[in-house]
This record gives sequence, C-alpha cells and structure tokens, in this order.
Amino acid sequence: MTPKRMTRRDWMQLLGASGLAAGIGAVGNRSQAWADPVQRKDAPKGVKVVGRDHAPARIVGGKVIQPERELVLLHETDVLVVGGGPAGVVAALAAKRAGAKVTLVERYGHLGGLWTGGLVLIVIGHIVSGKKQVCQGIGEEMMRRLEKLDRGIVNRKPGVNPTVDAEALKYVMVEMIMEADLDVFLHCWGVDAIMDGNKVCGAVFESKSGRQAILAKTVVDATGDGDVFAAAGAEHERRKYHAGLVHRIGNLDRVGKDAGQLDKRLLGSITPVPGVNWVNMHGPDIDALDVAQLTDIELNARRLIWKNVETVRKTPGYEDVYLMETAPQLGVRISRVLAGLHTLTMNDVMANKTFPDVVAVGGAWSGDHQEWQIPYGALVPKDVDNILAAGRCISGERFMSDLIRVIPNCFITGHAAGVAAALAAKDGCLVRNVEVPKVQKVLREQEAYLG
Ligand SMILES: Cc1cc2nc3c(=O)[nH]c(=O)nc-3n(C[C@H](O)[C@H](O)[C@H](O)COP(=O)(O)OP(=O)(O)OC[C@H]3O[C@@H](n4cnc5c(N)ncnc54)[C@H](O)[C@@H]3O)c2cc1C
Repeated sequence: MTPKRMTRRDWMQLLGASGLAAGIGAVGNRSQAWADPVQRKDAPKGVKVVGRDHAPARIVGGKVIQPERELVLLHETDVLVVGGGPAGVVAALAAKRAGAKVTLVERYGHLGGLWTGGLVLIVIGHIVSGKKQVCQGIGEEMMRRLEKLDRGIVNRKPGVNPTVDAEALKYVMVEMIMEADLDVFLHCWGVDAIMDGNKVCGAVFESKSGRQAILAKTVVDATGDGDVFAAAGAEHERRKYHAGLVHRIGNLDRVGKDAGQLDKRLLGSITPVPGVNWVNMHGPDIDALDVAQLTDIELNARRLIWKNVETVRKTPGYEDVYLMETAPQLGVRISRVLAGLHTLTMNDVMANKTFPDVVAVGGAWSGDHQEWQIPYGALVPKDVDNILAAGRCISGERFMSDLIRVIPNCFITGHAAGVAAALAAKDGCLVRNVEVPKVQKVLREQEAYLG
C-alpha cells in the first residue's frame, strides 16, 4: 500500500496532538498568514521574470565562451575611485574637495579595507626619526575624528603609533563620505577596465544588480591588488608575499595577576577597548591572486586561530579569554605592484632623494629613518593612460613596497592620486599630463605635508 502523503494540515494536527504546536503557535500562525493569499493583499508582488537578462556563457568547441553583450550604464562621473581602503577613501574625499564629481566603489559592505576589515589596527609609518609626524592631510583628519569618539583610538601621542578601533573607524569613514556627498556603491566588485584606445575611461562592475559600467574622466585604482590597472593592460609585477588572518580576543581584563606563562604573540596588542587585543598573523608566502591559495590560507588560518585561542584558555588564569572575531577580510600584504613612470627604491629613501614632482612624504616603519619623498611618477603607469595607482600597489621595488604599504603611506598616496585625478578631469588632460605644481598647491591647501 502506498503511504499517505502528509499534508501541512496533517502535520499541524500531529504537532497539536503532541502539544508541540502550542509552543510554536505564533510562528505557525504567521507562516500560515504568509501562505494565505487573502491575508497577503498588501504584500509586495514579485516581478515575474521569464528568460534570462543576458546570454549566458556557452560551451563552444569544448571551451567556455562568454558572448559579447551591451552593459547597462550604472553611472557617469569625473573621478572613479575603485576600492574603499585607506587609500581609496582618502582619494575620493580629496578629489571631491578638489572640486570633482566623485564615485567610490567598494566590493564589501564597509569602508576601510585592511585597516578595518582586515583588523590591522595599529597605524605604523607616519613618524620619522626625531619623532616628527610626516603623514598629514585627510588621513590625519580621520585620526583627529577618532580622538573625539569614546574608545575610537588609543596611544595617540606625539611620536607613538596609535591603535584604532575598527568599528569607530568605519563610522568615521561613513560620516566623512556622507558629509562630502559622494556617490558610493558598496557590494560592487570591479572586474574589468573600459578602454578607449590606450585610455582608461571607466570600469565594469559585478554586483547583485548584474554586470554594469561606470564611465569616468579619470580613474584611481585603490584596490590594493591593482585589479583595474591590470585589466587595462598596465605593466606590473605579480609578487608572492606572506598573508595572514588577524583576529581579536576578549576578556583579557579578567586574567589573574598570577596567571601562567604564554607566548606573547598569542595575546597580541592592545586596542582602544579595554580587555580586547588584536592578534597579528604571519602566514606563508602566497600568490594572493590565486583563489585556491586564498582559500587554503583562509581555511588553515581559521583552524589555527581557534587552536591558538584554546591554548590560551587552557593556561591557568586565562580561562575567560575568548575569540571575539576573526577579520572579515584576509590580510593580503602585497600582490600586484604597478610599473610606474618612477619606481621607488630603498636607495632613494636612504639617499634622501628629492623629486620635483613630489606629491607625498612618507614616514618610517618605526621612526628609524628620515622622511622620504614620493614622486607623482610612482602613481602613473608607464604605458596606459588615465589611471593612477594609490596605496599598497604603487610602483616600488620589493623592499620598498614594505614601507609603501603601511597605512599612513597609503592614505598619503591616496590623497595625491585623488587631487591629481580631480585636476586632470577638470583640465580635460590625461593624468600623466596634469600640472604637478597645481597638484602640489591643492594638496598643501588640503593640509598634506610635502616637505
Ligand atoms: C596582516 C597584515 C598586517 C599589517 N600590519 C600593519 C600594521 O601593523 N600597521 C600598518 O600601518 N599597516 C599594516 N599592514 C598594511 C596595511 O594594512 C595595508 O597595506 C593597507 O591597508 C593598504 O591600504 P590600501 O588602501 O592600499 O589597500 P586595502 O586596505 O587592501 O584596501 C583596498 C580596498 O579595495 C577593495 N577592493 C579590492 N579589490 C576590489 C575590486 N576589484 N573592486 C572593488 N573593490 C575592491 C577592498 O575590499 C578594500 O576595501 C598590514 C597588512 C596586513 C595584511
């Protein structure tokens, strides 16, 4: 005999008889209400979609081929900044303050890049020997705003590297972006460049809205990975570098005075929130443009972090310590690096080399050398027009990139790129032909330090 198929009513009767339905009555009723078309008169109706909105990829001769298609134009702008990390947010604000219509696009739902999403909280690299702070301008303005917030920043004293709170910083960045009235698209991933000959004139983005285009007079690639300049065909180097997943642990204020000995690296460093530390991680060298390697490191790091925190908790006195959060964003230090008109070298730094086209002045890792100049040429591709690099992917030799990539050195190159992109858009010239003295003047007006 074929068993009788249970209807929803049968299930409700059965649950009622067993007394279980009473406990879920409200949920049951609500789900029934949703299922009842009479009670759903005011509910929004879906749009019926028949067929596809674009021709899908097809197998042709054993290969996967994507057919040519026209893209929806999402937006048009003067300056398009791709990537909302320290470099990108500063670039967008600087371009707007320099008078341009600006659009900032970020693949995640928050701003700040590795500074917030990567939980890289200590701001290193703005101080030089003699304890002078050289990285100023919009990034410094962010830190001044953090100072005004409860638990926004700690160790904010002359000559010291401060540590920020990621949530406070996300808030500050949103505030600044909204005050500036920028056009922003989050959850929007830059996947291609739009070219007119050798000139970049926008980028293609993928989001839940599909694949769409943004056209721009000038473009700043602040993706950290040089996704847009690479798509445009700009010469660059693809480097392997160590990556890691940062995390935060809590309840350190409950650790007893006579607690056992632990490897200090497991406990990390302080944050503005009492009892909460951030723990930096160093992993193997990876190619951060290889999705399989990104996956491996993420999986292994998550396992390792849990085990590390278990070790901490098993140590007498540390029982209450817990894993608060792993960074939503994997810590990729270096991947692509632009081949610029000028490539910065450690020799330039050590020789205190000066450049007529200086657009930023960088600091040292830990105040152990003098300030060094960043020429405009380090942001400009050798070969492709109308795009600038900003942040950790600007042109630098291997050791130099280690100095370039620290947060303040990223926000100052973002600052320079934003102003230059705005002026090139205004003057209708290619970014490589922008009048650098004009860029320097506006940067100084925006409180950047150029020496
Ligand atoms: C583990 C680790 C520890 C570090 N420690 C320190 C430290 O102690 N102190 C210090 O000062 N610096 C430190 N750094 C370096 C510093 O955090 C980064 O180099 C810096 O944040 C880089 O800034 P950025 O704006 O160039 O790039 P990112 O911070 O990487 O920002 C790039 C942004 O672009 C977005 N993006 C990327 N691709 C796309 C795309 N295709 N489309 C749209 N959006 C995109 C990203 O989501 C991100 O928001 C550390 C880095 C790591 C990884």
